[in-house]
Formats: sequence, C-alpha cells, structure tokens
Amino acid sequence: MNNNIIKELYFENEPILSYLPGSSERLELEAELARIKSTAIDIPVIIGGKEIRTGNIGQCVLPHNHRKVIGEYHKAGKEEIKLAIEAALKSKHMWEELPWQSKVAIFLRVAELAAGPWRAKLNAATMLNQSKTYKQAEIDSACELVDFMKYNAYSLQQIYGEQPISTKNVWNKTVYRPLEGFIFAVSPFNFTSIAANLTGAPAMAGNTVIWKPASNAVYSAYVVYKLFQEAGMPDGVINFIPSNSGDISDSVLSNEYLSGIHFTGSTEVFFDLWSAVGKNIRNYRTFPRLVGETGGKNYIIAHPSADRTLLVQGLIDGAFEFQGQKCSAASRAYISKSVWADIKELLIEKASSLKVGDIEEIDTFMGAVIDKKSFDTISSYIEYARSSNNAEILVGGTYDCSTGYFVNPTIILTEDPHFKTMEEEIFGPVLTIYLYEDENYSEILSLCNNTSKYGLTGSIFAKDRYAIEEAEKELIHSAGNFYVNIRPTGAVVGQQPFGGSRLSGTNDKAGSKFNMMRWMSPRVTKEYFA
Ligand code: NAD
Repeated sequence: MNNNIIKELYFENEPILSYLPGSSERLELEAELARIKSTAIDIPVIIGGKEIRTGNIGQCVLPHNHRKVIGEYHKAGKEEIKLAIEAALKSKHMWEELPWQSKVAIFLRVAELAAGPWRAKLNAATMLNQSKTYKQAEIDSACELVDFMKYNAYSLQQIYGEQPISTKNVWNKTVYRPLEGFIFAVSPFNFTSIAANLTGAPAMAGNTVIWKPASNAVYSAYVVYKLFQEAGMPDGVINFIPSNSGDISDSVLSNEYLSGIHFTGSTEVFFDLWSAVGKNIRNYRTFPRLVGETGGKNYIIAHPSADRTLLVQGLIDGAFEFQGQKCSAASRAYISKSVWADIKELLIEKASSLKVGDIEEIDTFMGAVIDKKSFDTISSYIEYARSSNNAEILVGGTYDCSTGYFVNPTIILTEDPHFKTMEEEIFGPVLTIYLYEDENYSEILSLCNNTSKYGLTGSIFAKDRYAIEEAEKELIHSAGNFYVNIRPTGAVVGQQPFGGSRLSGTNDKAGSKFNMMRWMSPRVTKEYFA
C-alpha cells in the first residue's frame, strides 16, 4: 500500500570537515589513502549487476605520481554496449513502477553513507585518482555528492506536488512519467559528485541509465557505482561501461531507445553528441533530451573601487584551486590600472608561493593536472605566450612531468584583450590578465561580454554600487553564474544552482528542479464526474 502524502523532505548542505592533523576524519582518510595505494583493484564493466571482464584493459594512475597504478579497468566494446542497452530496457519497467518514495529512499541512503562510512573511501579515491587536495576532495566527493542526492530528492518532491487546478466536477491530475527508453550519462574527470549526479538524477526520476565514466577517473567512478549498489540500487538501473568513447558512441547514439543524454564535459564533445543525435533523429522513438554542461572562459573584472584584498584572494582561489580544472575556474581577468598598481606585488608573491606537489601533504595547494594530454595542452599555451610579442609571463610558466603532471601556477600579462589565452579554454592553472584605463570601465564590460563564445561564470569586484549594477546589466548573457566580490567558483547545491549558457551548455542547472524536469514527461489526466 502506498497512500502517504509526504511532508517536505529535509534539506541542509553537508558541512565541510576540516581534516586538521590528528582529527578523526583525517586519520580515517589517511588509512584509506594508504589502503588504496597498497592494492591494485580490478574494475569490471557492470551490466545488469553482472561483472564482465573483457580483457581490454586501461589503467588508473595517480596524476601526481603517474608510475603508480592503483587499478586496472576493463573496457566495454560493442557487444557489451548491446548487453547494456538490453539490461537498461529490461530493468526499466520494474524501476519505473517502484513507488517514488522507495526510489528516493535509495538516494537518501547514498547520501547518508557518503556523509558517514563512505566519506573516506570517496575522498581518498578522488584525491588519488584526480589529484585533489584534502579540501578539494571534501567539497566534491563528500559534500557536493551528498547535497546532489538530497537536493534532487527535495526537488523531485516539489515537482510531483505541482498539480493542475481542478474545477467543480473535474479532477485534473499530472503524473510525471520517466522518459521511455534509456539515458546515456557521460561524465567528466573533474568532479566525482558530477558523475554521481549525471547518473543519479535521471535514475531518481525513474529512468535507467548507461554510464560512460571518463577514462581518467574510472577509479572514483567505480567507488560511486559501488556506493549506489551498497545503498540498494537494483541491478540494471545504472550500467557501468568504462570504454573508449569511439568504440561505444555510435551504437548508443543510433539506438532507437535513446531517450536522453546527460553530459558534462567539453563543448567539442557535446557538439559531437548533438550532431550524432541530429543525424539519427528519424531513428528514435522519442526526441531525446539533450542536457550538457560544457566549457567556460570565466572572467574576473576589477573596477577601480575594488577591495584589493578580496580581489587578490579571488584571483588566486578562482584561478588555481584544483589546478584550474574547475569548469568555473577564472582564466581571464580585466583589471583597472590603478588597482593593478596596488595589487601587482602581492598577487605575484601569493601566486609564486603556492605549494604544488603531493596532495597528501596538508600544506599543498595544487596537485597535478589530470593526464599527459592535458599537461601537453596547458604547456603548449604557456609556450605560445612565452614566444609571443604581446604577452609576458609574470608568474610560473614552468612545468614538469617526470614524476607527476605538474604545472606551476602561471600568470600571463597581455596587451591584447583578444590574446589566445584570453579567449580559449585552457583548463589548467593559467590566468591571463589585461589591464585597462580606469575611465574605460564601460568599454571593458562590453569587451568582456563579446570576447568569449562561452557563458559559464564571471565575477565583478567593486565597492561602487553603480559599477556593480552596470556590470550585472551589461554582462547578463555572459555567465549563468555571476558573482559579486568573490571568486567565480565554488557554487553550492541549493544555493547557487549551476550552469552556463551560450556554448557553456544547455543551462539546466545541475542539482535543481530544472534539471530533474528534463528526465520526465508529464501526463495529465482529466476525469469528469458530472
Ligand atoms: P571531455 O569532453 O574530454 O570528456 C567528457 C566525457 O566525454 C568523458 O567521459 C569522455 O570520455 C567522453 N567523450 C569524449 N569523446 C566522446 C564521444 N565522441 N562520445 C561520447 N563520449 C565522449 O571533458 P573532460 O576533460 O573530462 O572535462 C573537462 C571539460 O568539462 C572542460 O571543458 C570543462 O569546462 C567541462 N566541465 C563543465 C562543467 C559545467 O558544469 N559546465 C563541469 C565540469 C566540467
């Protein structure tokens, strides 16, 4: 029997633990880090709950010590994709029919486990696999993951409660059906929590999912899969398919039952996915929902009235936390010349003294970038700047991949507001600064707005209220998440629903009612009593 009308679900953000030396959370995490490093696990493809070992192997390594292998994973091929689609479709009916409270209960259990006994497992995997510091892992794989699960549950209940008006002798009702078919979830390397959300959000709404994790973050993704399993996720609801995208994409994207793509990653890959859907559009039984949160070229603008101390902190944290590999990381800054005269020295001193190295040392600020490909891309941008006539490397510009893929925090100063590194996403610890005359503030807003094809995040630093107002107005389409007097990173689930427009994605706001709505198709019933 299922006749309860539930009061509003409880939501509050998961508190961030400090990991001070000697604290119980730190001791637990250190033990888990040591455990992972002393074993190498074998990660299977998982379809319908069954583990499959294909023998086509990829390796999980530490980006900051790339000779250290912590696991090997089996890659799915075309045959496994076929099986995964069958498993997702076979599991669909039972999962869809399970009362929503029961589905949500699994995710609330995921949240509780992640906040408690699985916290160290998730954080240790994220630290080692993605080279995150204690702090960066904690805000991702513990707090944001927990928040996504709970806030999605909260949002789902709000949506289900939205019912049409009824009249004197008519009762109108909406049921929010999951989509017919399966969802293809494709996750990026940079946030373990995003991987959990890309799969968890459609599943919570009653869909079954085929999940392709990023090849450079399979270890953390596998821990998330095991967490779902531990919380009681039935077999076949989420099917875990590590693979080379080239081997699987065609079969998934051309399948008639594809009902949605939940993607986070680069704009280029989303173009490819969208084009493939366009090419196959007449094959499908439904118009697939395309949800993609993609790249960014996020900015900081400093007005002459900016608070200097806040600005320097914003530039440092915004550009260099997690090696600049947050989609929201600040990578271009427009600073007024009078402000620059005051902050230049301090900024150089602070950026030069950030510790880059082993993420297990508590004072490390930055670990390594994710892999060789990324290291090569970032260093090629640095070399481009070094050899250019209208740019100067003020800080860093050095890198070394002998042990790990380390790139030092780099600040480039350019006289060209359209310099390559002012326009293109680098996805590494590289910030480019352009200085402007104080009286040209309005022109700078317009320049900033028209420089990039992206529209993800941006910050304005100013004390002058008119200047803030002008920036909010002029930059309205330049950022889906806009910040005043603080860095453009660090969105918190439920507080700053996250996503950008333009070529930064479909802006369905991960971890919100808007995103959850994309995984449902309402059906309205009118019943007549007269
Ligand atoms: P990526 O685009 O290289 O990869 C993302 C995923 O797509 C991976 O799983 C990858 O294997 C897969 N993929 C690649 N080619 C594919 C294909 N042809 N078909 C199917 N799947 C394919 O991105 P990444 O390096 O993992 O992550 C960094 C990017 O993600 C940056 O551009 C960053 O801005 C973006 N990002 C955006 C947000 C956001 O909310 N807007 C959040 C996180 C990351």
